[in-house]
Amino acid sequence: MIEIRWHGRGGQGAKTAAVLLADVASRVGWHAQAFPEYGPERMGAPVVAYNRLSKEAIRIHTPITNPDYVVVLDPSFIGSQSLVRGLGGGEKVLVNTTRSPADLAGALGVPPDVEVIAVDASGIAARHLGRDIPNTPMMAALIGVMEIMELGKLKETLRGRLESKFGDRPELVEGNLKAVEEAFSAIARGGGRPVASTEAAVKSPSRHPAAGWRELPLSGILRGGATSSRWQTGDWRNYRPKHIPENCIHCLLCWVFCPDIAVVVRDGRMVGFDYDHCKGCGICAEECPTKDKAIRMVPEIEEGTGR
Ligand code: SF4
Ligand code: SF4
Repeated sequence: MIEIRWHGRGGQGAKTAAVLLADVASRVGWHAQAFPEYGPERMGAPVVAYNRLSKEAIRIHTPITNPDYVVVLDPSFIGSQSLVRGLGGGEKVLVNTTRSPADLAGALGVPPDVEVIAVDASGIAARHLGRDIPNTPMMAALIGVMEIMELGKLKETLRGRLESKFGDRPELVEGNLKAVEEAFSAIARGGGRPVASTEAAVKSPSRHPAAGWRELPLSGILRGGATSSRWQTGDWRNYRPKHIPENCIHCLLCWVFCPDIAVVVRDGRMVGFDYDHCKGCGICAEECPTKDKAIRMVPEIEEGTGR
């Protein structure tokens, strides 16, 4: 059994990649599951999707808690705790990034003996599709790492699926196939893999544990107060508000309009943002009434956030 967890943002195609992977794997003899996990969130919010692949019939339908592979479609997640959840050692993490794999392993904070693989899927997509759609090249890279299919078979299997989806746009079919070939070939050449940690392997206590009914939380019950403050929506953000104090007149309109109570006010003055809960909607910047704007939205990655 191979278990996979995908991390992406709404609109990046994490769910589509999982479904596509299940589809192509099932055509070469694998039993496959693909399922997403998201709520009624907006484009850009974090989305998680899962795959199970097995040569035997898959009889479990529980959430995946200890994946063998983690695939990260958006580099702004680097540093987020959600990426390393359930990793104990021996897994592989593929990240869409131009960062060096060694640098990446440190930034991710993965346990020893987790292999980190950097794939410039956005660059590959831009070259062949003219847009930053990293899901298909990341899927091809994952298949290359898992070594479950030859490139020729992958392209042949994908072609039919792509033609049925983009029938009237042959350039998208060919572009996707070229992106798949480049990502798969980069992995086949050994590209993107870091020198793994030399520390001893930390063995995961149990692989693929299926939660029993006794372990599942009761549904329909709020288990304690302050649950919303523990729900850190800050990793939804791909743009962050930046306060420019010299332009601020402390009218507090940003505080009034913020839907997440993420504008911090002390002694009647606006002093900054609660980045654990600001999800980067930009309403505060829009509503700031000053001529030169006391709030500017800036890309999360370029703000030196370490992501
Ligand atoms: S971007 Fe501004 S309005 Fe939106 S959640 Fe963050 S602080 Fe609040
Ligand atoms: S809306 Fe603009 S000027 Fe008013 S407190 Fe917020 S940042 Fe300052």
